[in-house]
Amino acid sequence: MAKTDEVIRVPFLMKMEYRYALGAYASRFFQELKDHGRLFGIRCPECERVYIPPRPVCGICFVETGEWVPVSDEGVLVGATVVRLPFIDPMTGERRPVPYGMGIIRLDGASTAMYHFVDETDDAKLKVGRRVKARIRANRKGNMRDIECFELVD
Ligand SMILES: [Zn+2]
Repeated sequence: MAKTDEVIRVPFLMKMEYRYALGAYASRFFQELKDHGRLFGIRCPECERVYIPPRPVCGICFVETGEWVPVSDEGVLVGATVVRLPFIDPMTGERRPVPYGMGIIRLDGASTAMYHFVDETDDAKLKVGRRVKARIRANRKGNMRDIECFELVD
């Protein structure tokens, strides 16, 4: 048999649906969002950082967090871009229409920032420091899509 470097590739499409346990912290976060449309973070008892989404251990102090604190549905953009390259949205399995805005948002009362969609596609308007507010869906399911997007408010 002749040695070959040829790699044989076989096209294969696999659809996988699965569920996984969120754990106590993410479960409570999403339950509050689903039931009340509220956002909660969790505070480190040592450095007082408020993490959102919540996490069980402070990444700076390595101590258990534990105090749940409400955070605002408003905050500030600490980073943003307009996405123009289409890709498959992992939450829906569908191609998300482009362009759309993405932001890194630090909510008032939180020490950390989160990624989410921003309802703006004008590069000139998506600037660090702009104020944004969450557009929370009326029909919530207990996931990050309960926040439809953020909108500029200043
Ligand atoms: Zn800490």
